[in-house]
Amino acid sequence: MWTRGLARWYRKHGRHDLPWRSTAEPWAILVSEVMLQQTQVARVSGRWEAFLARWPTPEACAASPLAALLREWQGLGYPRRARALHVTARAVAAAGWPDTEAGLRSLPGVGPYTARALMVLAFGAPGVPPQDVNIARVTARAALGREPGEVRHAALEEWLTDGRPRGMSTRDFTYALFDAGALHCRARPLCHGCPLASQCPSLSRLEAAPPERLRHSPRYRGSTRELRGAVLRAMLAEPPPSSIDELQTRAGAAAAGRPSTDIALVLDTLVREGLVGPTPRMVRIK
Ligand code: SF4
Repeated sequence: MWTRGLARWYRKHGRHDLPWRSTAEPWAILVSEVMLQQTQVARVSGRWEAFLARWPTPEACAASPLAALLREWQGLGYPRRARALHVTARAVAAAGWPDTEAGLRSLPGVGPYTARALMVLAFGAPGVPPQDVNIARVTARAALGREPGEVRHAALEEWLTDGRPRGMSTRDFTYALFDAGALHCRARPLCHGCPLASQCPSLSRLEAAPPERLRHSPRYRGSTRELRGAVLRAMLAEPPPSSIDELQTRAGAAAAGRPSTDIALVLDTLVREGLVGPTPRMVRIK
């Protein structure tokens, strides 16, 4: 079996100290999964605990204004995730957790991956681990000797179904695969010490020709993303700015020297996305 050795390695080397691994509470798991979607583990640690200390349940979160969540979210990036969590909290507070994967997928911001992750990590469902990029990469390489882009999703599902070591829960199998992907089977793999190395059909290919280093993501400094963050931060202050001029000043260096139409456009987008409430008195375009 392609996962031989994984369970033993996970017991010894798994990242058991990640705080969200000590709970199976669905709300806590959902918050961790949403935070981890686009933010690195090191930056989520600490922020996850702080978020749950303020909103330990969907009911507590649903009763809070969105602006409070967005303030708490600052620094994690991609604040639309906070809005989706808020809408989900309201849906769950009103009707409880759906008890099927399809039902979970109907929640805002919960796609196929997150729904499966909730089923496995929170509700203890048996079956197939959720396929994120790490799990897809480990499975494609260790089971099939291919890169993930060369293999159909359904084929990976089959190998994942058959790959769970006997006596290991699907939850632990999932965490073990996350860890093998994060610690060894990265885009540029570190095969030495990998628990799957002894039977991995990709090892010699990747050692002979390791994948190119990924290009750095686009610069944040000077980007529209940076401007969005600064405008949102300024709009969440109490009281919020009352004119585009004031907004531009309060948005600081990210907005300095920009035409005011840029600031107004970003503000309009944030209003349209529901991250900022309507600003009827704000002079939008000078
Ligand atoms: S041996 Fe290398 S390629 Fe194979 S699963 Fe481990 S890290 Fe990935």
